Amino acid sequence: MRSTPRIPDAIGRARGGWMERGALLYEGKAKQVFATSDPSLVIIHFKDDATAFNGVKKASIGGKGAINCALTTHLFDAVAAAGVSHHAVRRLNETDLLCRKVEIVGVEVVVRNVVAGSFAKRYGVAEGTPLATPLVELFVKSDALNDPLINDDAVVMLALARPWEIAWMKEAALEINRVLCDFWGGLNISMIDAKFEFGRLDGRLVLADELTADGARLWERGTGRKLDKDVFRRDLADLGETYRELYRRVFGS
Ligand code: 5GP
Repeated sequence: MRSTPRIPDAIGRARGGWMERGALLYEGKAKQVFATSDPSLVIIHFKDDATAFNGVKKASIGGKGAINCALTTHLFDAVAAAGVSHHAVRRLNETDLLCRKVEIVGVEVVVRNVVAGSFAKRYGVAEGTPLATPLVELFVKSDALNDPLINDDAVVMLALARPWEIAWMKEAALEINRVLCDFWGGLNISMIDAKFEFGRLDGRLVLADELTADGARLWERGTGRKLDKDVFRRDLADLGETYRELYRRVFGS
């Protein structure tokens, strides 16, 4: 049975067809990836599910999928305007994004502007300590291993990425970080850190996955109020309320 209504799409229409969900290719904690009639395109569906601590803590947050799909689309546009390509083609409906099919690089790239989270714990530095310059860290993308920290040499040794890919991803991550810090700064919000994922597409790399408050720390300037998934991880506030507040600040309604 079809799980979504038929959605006319620019690409689909141009080819005289329709763009609709095909087989489920992959299911992650917060997203599903569906095939389409075009083997080079997939539909990413943003779920309402919230998870933390590698899936140990779970909840369903009404409207989260739509908010994250809208934020990702908006922030991908901002990043593209600065010259960084991404995998999205267009938003199909509230929760579904049509994307180019990429081979996801098995490395998560984290950029930190202020000490928080695992960096604070690992090195015994107080959360909130500013870093002199943005810092890039690499983690293995592996739920089974709990996403361990990894260095460049081990990334190459394990064939997770080639040396040029590591260099490219680090540079792109810093540029994306710059764009997003400017964006959130304009809303009186500091981006403390963020995680980016990249995909291989036709011999090059593009930004992939999502840009949401699930994968970034966003602190309101002045109050320090957290407007990201840490409110769920740390039981600080209602995640649905927090994400709706963030949505209102970005989109104004
Ligand atoms: P930390 O290493 O301090 O736990 O996380 C650093 C940043 O990367 C935070 O903004 C966090 O939300 C993000 N991050 C790290 N790993 C993951 C992950 O597996 N999933 C998501 N959504 N974000 C992550």
